Amino acid sequence: MTTLGLMCVHAHPDDESIATGGVLLRAADEGIRTAVVTCTGGERGEIHNMDEESTRPRLAQVRREELRGALAVLGAGEPRFLGYVDSGMMGTEGNQDPTSFWQASLDDAIGRLVAEIRQFQPDVLVAYDAFGGYGHPDHIQTHRVGLLAAEACAVPALYPETGPSWRVKKVYMATLPKSAIFRAVTLLTAQGLPAPFPVVDRVEDVTMGVSDEEVDAVVDVRSVIDRKLGALHNHRSQLDPSSYFLNIPEEFSDQAFGTEWFIRHRSDVPADGVEDDLFAGLRAS
Ligand SMILES: [Zn+2]
Repeated sequence: MTTLGLMCVHAHPDDESIATGGVLLRAADEGIRTAVVTCTGGERGEIHNMDEESTRPRLAQVRREELRGALAVLGAGEPRFLGYVDSGMMGTEGNQDPTSFWQASLDDAIGRLVAEIRQFQPDVLVAYDAFGGYGHPDHIQTHRVGLLAAEACAVPALYPETGPSWRVKKVYMATLPKSAIFRAVTLLTAQGLPAPFPVVDRVEDVTMGVSDEEVDAVVDVRSVIDRKLGALHNHRSQLDPSSYFLNIPEEFSDQAFGTEWFIRHRSDVPADGVEDDLFAGLRAS
């Protein structure tokens, strides 16, 4: 039997560490093959800790190297890019850039991802939920392209030039439950720290995220949290010194970064209720 494989599909360099750093580390520690596909170069991201003017023209290159460092910590091999340009936040002019991921032909984007899937042959594929966590166009597009490619790769007649067909056995969407957003916001405001989401008084008032009932996998990643944050720290250009990630007091680190959440899109093996492991049902017994 060949070794199991996990592929996580992300919008920008740094998303892999934030949303799936824990599941990638847990899998790699267990000997599962892991890979990260990044759809854009993150060219329209903010720039921190370095000079804006001189860095902006080569931000894609800077972020590629940061990603390389992060993947080395995560044990997830070399960067794999789909080759699209960052679309910028929703409503900004980058959304109209013909080379952006938001403007990409769906057929072209699915074909590029199918090629990566067929080459790596993952058993589990992770993309994003329909809102891409927080509504960034590249994240929404990652949801669409990720889920469609996860099906198209199994059909030999589609994109035959990208290699033999491959069936992904479990497909997940990384997500954020409203309860977790509420807990994080409450924790941060109680500490007098800036919150990455709007501050509300009740969990029902959280506008982003999904309801807890929609979450199908809750993975405890506390055992690998130091390396998850170590991977994230490679993304130096993205680390706003005032950000949430750098200012959580250490005693709250487990609460803030110790869990990763997923919606199960499809499973070829029986999967009921809330799983605590993306590979449940796939290991040889
Ligand atoms: Zn992103």
